[in-house]
Amino acid sequence: MQRRALGLAAFATAIFALPWLPVPDFWITQLNYIGLFSLVALGLVLLTGVGGLTSFGQAAFAGIGAYSSAWLCTAFGASPWLGLLAGLLATATVALLLGCLTLRMSGHYLPLATIAWSLALYYTMGNLDALGKYDGLLGVPAIHLFGISLHDERRVYGLIWFCALAAALGLTQLLDSRPGRVMRALNVNRGGGVTMPEAMGASTFRYKVVMFVIAALLASLSGWLFAHMQRSVNPSPFGIKFGIEYLFMAVLGGVGQVWGAFTGAALVKLTEDQLQVWLPKLIGTAGSYETIVFGVVLVMVLKFAPDGVWPMVERWLPKRHRARTPGQTAEPLAARSKPARGEVLLEAKAVRKAFGGLVAVNDISFTIRAGDIVGLIGPNGAGKSTTFNLISGVLPMSSGEVLLRGQRVDGLPAREVARRGMSRTFQHVKLVPDMTVLENVALGTYLRTKSGAFAALLRVDRAEERRALHEARLQLQRIGLSEQADELAGNLALGPQRQVEIARALASDPSLLLLDEPAAGLRHQEKQALAAVLRQLKAEGLSLLLVEHDMDFVMNLTDRIVVMEFGTRLIEGTPAEVQASPAVRAAYLGTER
Ligand code: ADP
Ligand code: MG
Repeated sequence: MQRRALGLAAFATAIFALPWLPVPDFWITQLNYIGLFSLVALGLVLLTGVGGLTSFGQAAFAGIGAYSSAWLCTAFGASPWLGLLAGLLATATVALLLGCLTLRMSGHYLPLATIAWSLALYYTMGNLDALGKYDGLLGVPAIHLFGISLHDERRVYGLIWFCALAAALGLTQLLDSRPGRVMRALNVNRGGGVTMPEAMGASTFRYKVVMFVIAALLASLSGWLFAHMQRSVNPSPFGIKFGIEYLFMAVLGGVGQVWGAFTGAALVKLTEDQLQVWLPKLIGTAGSYETIVFGVVLVMVLKFAPDGVWPMVERWLPKRHRARTPGQTAEPLAARSKPARGEVLLEAKAVRKAFGGLVAVNDISFTIRAGDIVGLIGPNGAGKSTTFNLISGVLPMSSGEVLLRGQRVDGLPAREVARRGMSRTFQHVKLVPDMTVLENVALGTYLRTKSGAFAALLRVDRAEERRALHEARLQLQRIGLSEQADELAGNLALGPQRQVEIARALASDPSLLLLDEPAAGLRHQEKQALAAVLRQLKAEGLSLLLVEHDMDFVMNLTDRIVVMEFGTRLIEGTPAEVQASPAVRAAYLGTER
């Protein structure tokens, strides 16, 4: 076993052995709070650290979990376990509703909505007679587990830490999976976004909602444990102040990683206690001055350690092994039926795009036959990338038609176009920098695999996952990049990064591959290697549309060339015809060289 796994096992053993050792009750109480806070912060690791989405409403979700169960137990004598179920259901419903309303919109709506929702819930809890108004509900029963009543802090401790560590494990497993790869590609603060995962076939909106609901459920679970530990509930721990504090814990600990949640929860809880002892002595009066101290600390953390405290701790731990994905023996993923050579694969008919008054693409038409490499060339600003985005469904077109194997694909979202067999790379490389090269390529297998978040949490997706990683390895071999498979994608130079993008596109088993300036920024030798790879792909029966402004690169590679200038088609023909055309020389060479 690795040293890191051993360390983890030792940590878990120590945690669970603690209540049986003669440690003071105070410690156990502290650790209970740290466990409860960690659960909520873990949700924020997923939502904010991984997904780049901010919520101030996690304390309010904890409130739903706490109040649902407390109310059912005190008013109807229900079992806390039924209360848990009801709380999770209520939480999921609210989170779904809130998520569906706000997650389609741009970044700021979610945080705003979670603030509004926190305030609304707080005043509802405080004003409902049935919920005891601001005094809350007393006499909440203890949880019974296997006939044991968890009525004191030493007894409930084990359940709290079991939930926290299980959540951490589940989250780790979720992130290392098919849905996890999509989630990790979404974070706009780390150079991600929705365009690439959508082009790989994923509904990013659905994943954002899933992440939001999971985070809410973890908070709700924490609230339930809290209510039955305290044996009472009142609105104050579920207000906006705690919503902010949870976010603070996650950021302080290191919002990108699972263990950051525990670090942040522990730091905040322990510091808060110390401040409550020392601040009154220093300043002389009691008050919530610790909020001010936390505010200052938060600013310092964001400035000097934007990744939080955990990465500094991690530096002292044994290194994690990356090369742990064998996958050599997996059964290959199913392949799509290929069009016959010469069959009409793509037809673009009078495709047009206007950005306000600027007609970036002016009624462009061309045809690609199976087995062909077609080049789309023209000076910078000619409209090549826009044409590309129109065909692949990234941008909606103003008018025109696109047919893929005889089926209309214009008007479809990019993920549906991808499903029908078109795959693409991006002019501005879109890789997930903190994912390995292999994982990045495996994103391309998204449409050929099925496992969802639930399967990943429970680890029942492993057989399919092996096949996906195997496919990714094959594609890396195909483009000659196997050596770098376990390297982080962000560590590669631009040339290899472009190759990784090609491998990722190939992993979707496309009929048509669209490459946007694959040779840009490559050195001469890299260009020749790339040309050899593309020829090989053609020989294997794949069709390519190649956007380039490097004339020489296209001339030796393509069957046909479409030349664009100012959004219009200047000429279409064989490389020889294009090269001989005086209009092309004037327009193209004049501006480019
Ligand atoms: P190319 O890829 O051939 O260099 P582009 O397709 O990127 O050219 O751009 C074509 C024209 O459309 C340029 O004048 C560019 O400024 C304009 N353009 C591209 N995208 C947008 C956009 N989202 N909004 C407004 N104008 C755009
Ligand atoms: Mg371009």
